[in-house]
Amino acid sequence: MDFLDVPTVLQVSALFNLMAALAWLTLAQVFRIAPRAGRLMAAAHLVRIASQGCGDCMAGWPGLAQQAIPEFGLLACMLLLMMALRRMLRSRHRPRDINWIAGLGALGITLGLAGGSGLLPQLASTLSATALGLLAVREVIRGIGGQLSRIVTACTALPFAALVAVGAAHAVELLVVPGWEDHFLRGDLPTPARAVLWFVVTAAITLSLIALMIWRLITRIQHLTHRDPLTGALNRRAFELALSEAQAQLQRGHGFALAMIDIDHFKRINDEHGHQAGDAALQHCVRVWQASLREVDRLGRLGGEEFCALLPLNGPSDLATAASVAERLRHSLAAQPLHWKNLELPLSASFGVALPVGGDPRGEIGLARADAELYRAKAEGRNRVCVATHLAGMAPA
Ligand code: GH3
Ligand code: MG
Ligand code: MG
Repeated sequence: MDFLDVPTVLQVSALFNLMAALAWLTLAQVFRIAPRAGRLMAAAHLVRIASQGCGDCMAGWPGLAQQAIPEFGLLACMLLLMMALRRMLRSRHRPRDINWIAGLGALGITLGLAGGSGLLPQLASTLSATALGLLAVREVIRGIGGQLSRIVTACTALPFAALVAVGAAHAVELLVVPGWEDHFLRGDLPTPARAVLWFVVTAAITLSLIALMIWRLITRIQHLTHRDPLTGALNRRAFELALSEAQAQLQRGHGFALAMIDIDHFKRINDEHGHQAGDAALQHCVRVWQASLREVDRLGRLGGEEFCALLPLNGPSDLATAASVAERLRHSLAAQPLHWKNLELPLSASFGVALPVGGDPRGEIGLARADAELYRAKAEGRNRVCVATHLAGMAPA
C-alpha cells in the first residue's frame, strides 16, 4: 500500500466524516428521522475528525494538546456512537457498564497525561474504545437478534467486531512492542495500511448505523400500516392478510382456528361513562387478551368492538385447543375489570370459535362460521364461548 499517500488518506477520511456528520444532521433536523440518534452520530463523526487528525494539521500545537485531543477524541467518539446505537435500537438496558468503561478510560488518559506517560493515555483510550466496541456488538445482537435473521444481525455487528479486533491488536502492539508509543509522540504518521483500515472500519460502522436507521423506519411504517392506532391490535387489512397466509398454509397441513370476539354491552360504557371510557375499555381488552394469547396467535380489530383471533393449532381439526384459548381469553377479561376514574367497570365478551375450510383463499367461510357461533353466544346470554362443532358451547365458569 506504499503507493498511498497517508496525509491524503487522512484528509479523505476527514472529508468523509464531515459529509457523514452533515448527512446525519440533515436527516435529524430537516426530515426529523431518528433526530436524537442522528445528532449524536453527527457529533461522533465531528469528534472523529479531531481524534484521527489530518496529517500534520496539528503541527505547532502544544505537545499536551497534540496528545490529549486524539485520545479524549477517540473515547468521546466511541461514547457518542454507543449512545446513538442505543437510541437507534431503543435499548432499555441500563448503561452502567458504558459509564464505567468511559469513566475509567477518561481517568487513565488524564492520569497518563498528568504523569507525562506516553503509553498510558494511548493504552487507556484504546482499551476503553475496544471495550465500548464490544458492548456495541452486544447491543446490536440484543437489539435486532430476535427480529432479523442471523446473517443480517452478523453483518450489522461485523463492523463493530472489526473495531474490537483492530483496537485489541493495537493495545497488544502498545504493550508488547517496546517503544511503540513513541511513534505517536514523535508525531509519526500511521502506515498506509493502518490509515486505510481505520477509514474502512469507520465507513463500515456508518453503513451499519444507516442500515439500522432504515430498519427502524421500516418497522415504524409497518407498525403504522398494520396496527390499529387505538389498541395496537392488527388492523382489518393486516388481519385479512394474516388470514390469507394462514389459509395458504392450511393446504400444507398447518391447521388454525378463528375466534370471533365481541365485547358485551359495550354501548352502555359509552353511554354511561363517555366515549373516552369506551376507548379505554377497548385498550384494556386488547391488553388483557394479548397477555393471554400465545406468541403464535394473532389478534385483529375488525371494527368497533369486534375482534378476531387467529389461533394456529397442533392438528388440522384440534378445536379443543382453540376452545380452551378462547375460554382463557373470556375468563381473563371477566376477571380483570377496567379501572376508570375511581370506578371499577366490569367487562365481558362473547366468543365464536370455528375451523376454516380449504379452498377458501380469503378465509371468508371460516369467518362466517365463527360469526354465526358468536351470534349464538350472544343469544345464549353473552360472556361465553360457542364452538362450531357437535361440542356444546362452553358456559362461563
Ligand atoms: P352486544 O352485547 O350485543 O354486543 O351490545 P353492544 O352494546 O356491545 O353492541 P352495539 O353494536 O350495540 O354497540 C357497539 C358500540 O361500539 C357502538 C359504537 O358507538 C361503539 N364503538 C365502536 N367503535 C368505537 C370506538 O372506537 N370507540 C368507542 N368508544 N366506541 C366505539
Ligand atoms: Mg358488542
Ligand atoms: Mg358489535
